[in-house]
Amino acid sequence: MVDIKSITPEELAGWFKELGEPAFRAKQVFQWLYRGVASFEEMTNLPKSLRQKLTEIALLTPPAVARKQVSQEDGTIKYLWRLSDGNCVESVLMRYRHGNTVCISCQVGCRMGCAFCASTIAGKVRDLSPAEMLDQVLFTQIDSGTAVSNIVLMGIGEPLDNFDTVLRFLTLVNHPDGLNIGMRHISLSTCGLVEQIDKLAQHGLQLTLSVSLHAPDDETRSKIMPVNRSVGVEKLLETCRRYFEKTGRRISYEYAMIDGVNDAGWQADLLARRLRGAPAHVNLIPLNEVEESPLKPSRRVADFQKRLEGQGVTVTVRRKLGGDIDASCGQLRRKAMREET
Ligand code: SAH
Repeated sequence: MVDIKSITPEELAGWFKELGEPAFRAKQVFQWLYRGVASFEEMTNLPKSLRQKLTEIALLTPPAVARKQVSQEDGTIKYLWRLSDGNCVESVLMRYRHGNTVCISCQVGCRMGCAFCASTIAGKVRDLSPAEMLDQVLFTQIDSGTAVSNIVLMGIGEPLDNFDTVLRFLTLVNHPDGLNIGMRHISLSTCGLVEQIDKLAQHGLQLTLSVSLHAPDDETRSKIMPVNRSVGVEKLLETCRRYFEKTGRRISYEYAMIDGVNDAGWQADLLARRLRGAPAHVNLIPLNEVEESPLKPSRRVADFQKRLEGQGVTVTVRRKLGGDIDASCGQLRRKAMREET
């Protein structure tokens, strides 16, 4: 079976040639795919015999909306998608002045085990396919009637733990015949898998790499992020510097502010010291409370920000969108899982 939405327009054309079909048929199929059809039967300008053949040899896996929440405050929309095998993942559409951004998932669950994150509680079930990632963007656009200009890989899962799929997804959304979303409009967030960061650097993509740092010292970071137990902060930041040298792209560091864990003055000072030497941007994130976790949001966000800025660090505080819905990472999937069991 060919997973028809995971291949590029060029690969699709090549495959149709092998099948002995004229080139314009590949173009017709491509157009249908991006209109969001759920089956080959719906491709009404293809001969019936070709539709039947495609049904037998190609795979189409459109997601269905399992749940949808719309924020009354800011128009943020949260989708819980049911995938073709019954698993669910989430996407969020956020409306910013600079454009509409969709946050998408790359795995069903996650195996990274971060203490504050809802997505990892039940572990990883499986990786998504390129098509399943692409469809989150496409169907968000179709269902909401909103054109998406930016993509962030900050939903459920660890993008660099599904490396080849994520690269292929990037090729697909970036393709001029496809969604044509520029690399500079895409952010990829990682918990810090150093070998894969080096591997990504080799591709020299112009996307924004966001690194979930969350603590400047190994003791704290290892406590809340198991990934730090094998590779500490120093090696991670060295890798980030190499990434910058190779790509010329400034790295963005995410820092979820957790009460009494990573919000002390000395931690701001250490963070500032450790980020010196390469352009960096720190994004402080007010912690979203997760029902299953005892961690609480910090009350010192403004102090922490001031202390970093006083030492020359560029800092922003992430604005909270969709506060009236389960808009943050993994929450809606958890809720659905709790209610279904
Ligand atoms: N696996 C990737 C991307 C997924 S999460 C990563 O670790 O970066 C996207 C961001 O949300 C990460 O920075 C993650 O650490 C953060 N995050 C997860 N749970 C959170 C919570 N409860 N409150 C605030 N930020 C959270």
